[in-house]
Amino acid sequence: MAKRVFYFGKTKTDGDGKQKQLLGGKGANLAEMTSIGLPVPPGFTITTEVCDEYYKSGRKLPAGLTDEVNKNVKVLEKELGKKFGDNENPLLVSVRSGAAASMPGMMNTILNLGLNDVSVKGLAAATGNERFAYDAYRRLINMYGDVVMEVGHEHFEEAFDKIKKKHKATLDTEVPTEGLKELCEAYKAVYKQHTKQDFPQAPLQQLELAIEAVFKSWMVDKAVSYRRIEGITGLKGTAVNVQSMVYGNMGNDSGTGVAFTRDPATGQNKFYGEFLINAQGEDVVAGIRTPQPVAEMPKWTTPTHKTIGKDCHKQLLEIKDKLEDHYKDVQDIEFTIEKGTLYMLQTRTGKRTAAAAVKIACDMVKEGRIDEKTALLRIPPNDLTQLLLPSFSAAGKKGAEVLAKGLPASPGAAFGKLAFTAVEAVERANAGEKVILVRKETSPEDVEGMNSAAGILTSTGGMTSHAAVVARGWGRCCVAGAGEISIDEKGRKIKVAGKTLTWKDTISLDGSTGEVMNGEVATEEPKLSGDFAKIMKWADEHRTLGVRTNADTPADSQRAREFGAEGIGLCRTEHMFFEEDRIFSMRKMILAENEKNRRAALEKLLPHQRKDFEGIFKAMKGLPVTVRLLDPPLHEFLPHDGKAQTEIAKELGLKPADVKHRVAQLHEANPMLGHRGCRLSITYPEILEMQVTAIVEAMINCKKKNIDAKPEIMIPLIGTVEELKLLREKAEETIEAVKKAKKYDGKLDIPIGTMIEIPRAALTADQVAEYADFFSFGTNDLTQMTFGYSRDDVNTFLPDYLKHDILPVDPFQSLDQTGVGQLVAMGVEKGRSTRKDLKVGICGEHGGDPSSIDFCHRVGLNYVSCSPFRVPIARVAAAQAALKNGK
Ligand code: PEP
Ligand code: MG
Repeated sequence: MAKRVFYFGKTKTDGDGKQKQLLGGKGANLAEMTSIGLPVPPGFTITTEVCDEYYKSGRKLPAGLTDEVNKNVKVLEKELGKKFGDNENPLLVSVRSGAAASMPGMMNTILNLGLNDVSVKGLAAATGNERFAYDAYRRLINMYGDVVMEVGHEHFEEAFDKIKKKHKATLDTEVPTEGLKELCEAYKAVYKQHTKQDFPQAPLQQLELAIEAVFKSWMVDKAVSYRRIEGITGLKGTAVNVQSMVYGNMGNDSGTGVAFTRDPATGQNKFYGEFLINAQGEDVVAGIRTPQPVAEMPKWTTPTHKTIGKDCHKQLLEIKDKLEDHYKDVQDIEFTIEKGTLYMLQTRTGKRTAAAAVKIACDMVKEGRIDEKTALLRIPPNDLTQLLLPSFSAAGKKGAEVLAKGLPASPGAAFGKLAFTAVEAVERANAGEKVILVRKETSPEDVEGMNSAAGILTSTGGMTSHAAVVARGWGRCCVAGAGEISIDEKGRKIKVAGKTLTWKDTISLDGSTGEVMNGEVATEEPKLSGDFAKIMKWADEHRTLGVRTNADTPADSQRAREFGAEGIGLCRTEHMFFEEDRIFSMRKMILAENEKNRRAALEKLLPHQRKDFEGIFKAMKGLPVTVRLLDPPLHEFLPHDGKAQTEIAKELGLKPADVKHRVAQLHEANPMLGHRGCRLSITYPEILEMQVTAIVEAMINCKKKNIDAKPEIMIPLIGTVEELKLLREKAEETIEAVKKAKKYDGKLDIPIGTMIEIPRAALTADQVAEYADFFSFGTNDLTQMTFGYSRDDVNTFLPDYLKHDILPVDPFQSLDQTGVGQLVAMGVEKGRSTRKDLKVGICGEHGGDPSSIDFCHRVGLNYVSCSPFRVPIARVAAAQAALKNGK
């Protein structure tokens, strides 16, 4: 039988930092910190496999676990010279969750476990502080009732209010010892009333139920949501960490804090953290009291220990260096000072913004801690988007009315209307509004709302409060602890700087300065820093996949080039037809009743297309541009409401009834499987002719101006080789015809290829390759057709599929490597069996998704193509794929 419980302490340490999957991040690091000699209170970790067993056996703790736990409790008692339930010097423990991936505040924690009617006296004796002991006991009954037995927190609050009234206290801290003793009795009564059981007095029984409660918390809604939003999959469950308690709330010579070994927002190499004197760990993270910066710690003195702050600060700095030397990465730590003695409670890899990730990676290479490859592997590619987003312009900021200043918790420039609850934020964001979620503080319950909001603003809480940590992890703009703002959640308004703003008002948040501004402040494009360029250079040196972009305007093409695109992998020509001056001719073409009229309308579109292509070829300066011929079903270009139909009829001199009839005729029951893609050119070859003519004329015009244009013609939605053969011939004829008409006798090298978007095209790729100079996988359509999910209405049921784990992720965002991936792999292999040098790319949305890019690398694609803002992501992801899988 596999070992279920791993001890860490001076006696022995069973685990190590590499065992994150088994011991969870927290457990593995507690073992590791203990091994490298840091002051960690001893304890033990119950593995994630036990959590798995718990669920597999229908929510039952496995037989034999209790014995193993009890054995470890004995070792712990011996090491500390304390005993569970003792009336002199009792052993007390905390019980915490900890999965392999960090889920801040998502799962349950129980503190002070082991207290009962006897050991509370022991704790009072051992600490010489009776008030403290009863305060700890009442916290345990409350937390235990709440977390383990699901007794509503409000019942405990009610009991506390009565006691406060009785003792004329307004604050918890003003309640005298007597009052706390009464409170423990009152809490036990609340407990009994709601659970029909006495509060368990046997510490081992308390422990067993607490362990089970942590396992249960793995599947509660907020934890499941968080994993879904973060894309955390494939974990066995949570581990349970049982650790001997140390107290930060034993008086003014005690405290607790959290810190980062470097600034997690900017990456600056500066010890960065916060602490609270006389407080328990959760107080800092929950954002209830606003903590002080760690840099202020040296000023902390007590009458009997004048250098307490200086000593602890010095020791923390030494630990910081030791941790960074050991882990070679930024660490996020939790510490507690009990009567002047420092203890480490946790270390984990620090979550950071993209800006910090880039700076830290480059700095650590400079410091010789890591090499370039490691640095590259440390950059979460998706986060780079944060660096490419606009920031507030200097001019915008100059005129802005600053309402308040909070902490710069997570950088970014966000604006939106005020939303006061997570539910409201989700609803309004879904309805297309930009909202800023405004809360006193956030809790794990708010994650859906935080994820929907453009930015997050809190009025209490520090840089390490829940809102700050989660927002930073997501790269969402957040200003925390803006204490001047008073929030009226019920009235849906805030008061600040003498003003009242309601849910209808817009504010702007500067996550880099902490400013909260009135109205919408103007933004500007980003400037890419020296470190960013360095990471990109390293990425380009290591990747083997090419990176192109999906772009259909000169402006997008230009931006993508600046981001490092090596060509256009997909120019969707249909987007060009929607502009004001073209849609009319487009509609005229569609509504034409015969070829002659269609050609006349196409004739009008031709110069526009040609001009667009010239602009794009020019912007791409000699880089290849894959132009896809018209793809969407024609009804997409027509108006669907009666009024617009009447207008177009008038403009075209038609009867409204005729327009209506044609719209109805073109209507498709399943628009994405109908008359579209190459099928359009089969029915209306004149559309292909016009588009190819525009491409070739634009190419010739560019050449005459010494602009190196490199178009590639891509035919969409091929399902049989015959379609491609026919349309290729047509395209070649058109190229020759244009050359002749333009009297151009130079060589024009225009590769003609196809998209592989229909499963049949992948299955017969060896035949298709006979007529294709290149393939580009249109994995949007390929996913649609392989799964049989319509792209247009998949969202009606996809959320349920994700909720029930039928699908691990949205297959339209991240390639389904087991299913759709087989078709891609087969398409590449079969295509190259016909044409060894067949160039193959991907241009579906997946071309910008890091895990799909990894797949593309492994199956031997030549390039990926993605939207301009994803180009840097793709460059880094491609380098990571090469480093992980070999070139
Ligand atoms: C695709 O299907 O993957 C593709 C890129 O084409 P579109 O999204 O335009 O259908
Ligand atoms: Mg497609």
